[in-house]
Amino acid sequence: MSYCSVILRGAVKQTDVLYTYRIPESLEGKVTPGCLCNVPFGKGNRLKTALVTEITEENTSKYAVKDVAGMVSDLPVVTEDQLAIIDKIASRYNCTRGEAAELMIPSCVETHKNQSVTFVEIADKEAAVSVLESGSLRSAAHINILEYLLENGPSDRKEVLYGCRASAGQLKAVIDKGLVRSYKTRAEDSEVTSDFAFEDAPDKGFTEEHDLNDEQKLAVKTIMEGDKSVYLLYGITGSGKTEVYLNCARKVLESGGSVLYMVPEISLTPQSINWIRGRLGDSVAVLHSRLTDNQRYVQWDRIRRGIARIVVAPRSGVFAPVQNLKLIVIDEEHDSSYRSETHPRYSAKEIARMRSINTGAKIILGSATPAVESFYAAKNDVYELVELKTRARKQARLPETVPVDMKEQIKLGSGEMLSLPLRQAISVALSQRKQTMLFLNRRGYSRTLVCNDCGTAATCVNCSVAMTLHNNKRNGTQNLVCHYCGYTIPADTATCTGCGGIHFTRAGFGTQQLEELIKKLYPNEKVLRMDQDTTMSPKAYREIIDKFAAGEASFLIGTQMIAKGHDFPNVTVVGILGADLMLASSSYRASERAFQLITQAAGRAGRADCPGKVFVQSYRPDLPLFRYALTQDYEAFYNAEIEYREKLQLPPFKAIGEMILSDENEEDLAVKAGELKTYLKEFLSYQDEKYGFELYGPMPDVIYELRGRYRMDFVIKAINKSALNAIYKKVISDFDYTKYQISFNNDPEN
Ligand code: ADP
Ligand code: ZN
Repeated sequence: MSYCSVILRGAVKQTDVLYTYRIPESLEGKVTPGCLCNVPFGKGNRLKTALVTEITEENTSKYAVKDVAGMVSDLPVVTEDQLAIIDKIASRYNCTRGEAAELMIPSCVETHKNQSVTFVEIADKEAAVSVLESGSLRSAAHINILEYLLENGPSDRKEVLYGCRASAGQLKAVIDKGLVRSYKTRAEDSEVTSDFAFEDAPDKGFTEEHDLNDEQKLAVKTIMEGDKSVYLLYGITGSGKTEVYLNCARKVLESGGSVLYMVPEISLTPQSINWIRGRLGDSVAVLHSRLTDNQRYVQWDRIRRGIARIVVAPRSGVFAPVQNLKLIVIDEEHDSSYRSETHPRYSAKEIARMRSINTGAKIILGSATPAVESFYAAKNDVYELVELKTRARKQARLPETVPVDMKEQIKLGSGEMLSLPLRQAISVALSQRKQTMLFLNRRGYSRTLVCNDCGTAATCVNCSVAMTLHNNKRNGTQNLVCHYCGYTIPADTATCTGCGGIHFTRAGFGTQQLEELIKKLYPNEKVLRMDQDTTMSPKAYREIIDKFAAGEASFLIGTQMIAKGHDFPNVTVVGILGADLMLASSSYRASERAFQLITQAAGRAGRADCPGKVFVQSYRPDLPLFRYALTQDYEAFYNAEIEYREKLQLPPFKAIGEMILSDENEEDLAVKAGELKTYLKEFLSYQDEKYGFELYGPMPDVIYELRGRYRMDFVIKAINKSALNAIYKKVISDFDYTKYQISFNNDPEN
């Protein structure tokens, strides 16, 4: 008789234990670690989905054991190396095991019943085309269905209905007319035809294989032959990092291993998918947010069966059931999209590391502007540093960069948005039918005040980060609060740390105003605008990018998202507006983000063989940060930054964590925050000094009111993340979570 231990899918706190079930004879051999099954649960024996973690010969449970009811999926849904990290994830991100397992099991596994799907296709192409042309079809739905199928070929019935907004009856009508037929097929067989993931799109650049230059060869050799597990591939923009990833990937595939190739979601365009496929062959699977459930299932199923041996995916793909994982590439490793912003707030880089420890897979972190923590790890021999110092294509040149002093420009009458040199460059570009990109980064700054005289944000005297503006409801005044140490001053008493000025305003302008100005100045030109990075759908985002790439507009205006990884060969002018406002964010990462953004944005200009010009408009063009960014001097930036981080004991020197306490009632919140503070102070007072605990707060969260709840923060620093976690665990066990709503966040991003 055998038994199995299971984790309930989506378990809540009370049910987050390993349950034991007996394996009935009929399922003997089928129930294996990593597979999903149905189990009867609780008094009513309601069936729940559960993930099997272990098979034992003995019944270790002291309770009466029930039988496993059935299988949800015949094959395991997670690999052994994934099973092995579930506990680690639960403890690292303070979630239940069930939530950790949930990250690994795509919802399509359960909804995808039995591998059989209904497909529809055009029965007679000529007839369909002539019916469409004759205009005899009255129903828009009928027309849509025919057009859809003519365009996409045989398709999943559900997708057709959804894509055409048609009803089952309407589809049946065109089937009855003999124009369309339907048939059943197995999901695996449908892959080629239903695979929207690989849309036709022109290839750019990478289809062509290059002989590696000496630097690239050395990089590949170092990575493949080295004995470290993490390699930081630090190479300037255009140095050919992609070619290094591909060569390493090919070598790993040849020796029988599999590869996980991670990219920021936003750069996973049809083009990039196409060329990766072109270069690495049919064993590529792609996961991204635009897939339908069925497409996702098909991709995922190929991965777990080991048919797909190279998986290209954004953050969530780090949980793909890759078999025999031997290499994990993380391109643009500094990108913030590798951290999840919802519970469990995992970091794909950390998960990759956990998986690599169990599988022996190597990790390549690639970037032109590595995260400060990554570079620090490489400098200290925790990672191996691999450098590419020259541009791979001889013709490619660095764009010319021009710092612009907006104080002067405003005196000259330019207004606060577009400086005169930038306008001139735009006119030249327009006359040559070239394109312009304008970046305006508003992130966070609207919540602070900037000095009227020099543009510096109101800054915390302890932490050198911008302070956040909060309304003081009781007397109608405003306070400035430092989000790290809680330092608070009345807004009208702020003194500028840059020039000593005492006049502050909520300066700045938005992308909309900028668009209006551009339209007024250049009435004959088309302008595309992209903003709201968090709310825009990937599809809408892509449409704008595609239009701009196709030359349908002369201007693209946007926030940081337009800076990411796109090649626009026809762009010769890039304007970065309000550059110093990037520093006015309340995060200690503000400089790092600004540096990455400016370097990346500058990389957009003149990627093709015509040189570009980059204008960085700010009130403080003399700030060292801008100089480093404009000369693309990462190391100078890093040296200055690491000094600041050390001085203030910020990551990588200490871990920083945040506890957010929220409540519907403001007064209750204040009381509870007081209780939590007393508790934390007392608890921390008898911890060993070696853990380096520091406690700040309570202070209002950067977003004090969110969806009807008020939020107060505590910030805790400690020697490492485990020490922080120990405190979270203590708080979780000592505070009744039905009364105290507390969320935890390691290394918060603001
Ligand atoms: P990065 O990712 O480092 O910014 P890319 O991988 O995008 O750089 O490469 C930049 C350009 O250089 C691409 O167009 C690529 O095709 C080209 N390239 C890469 N390696 C070579 C090489 N060895 N010889 C010639 N061109 C190369
Ligand atoms: Zn402070």
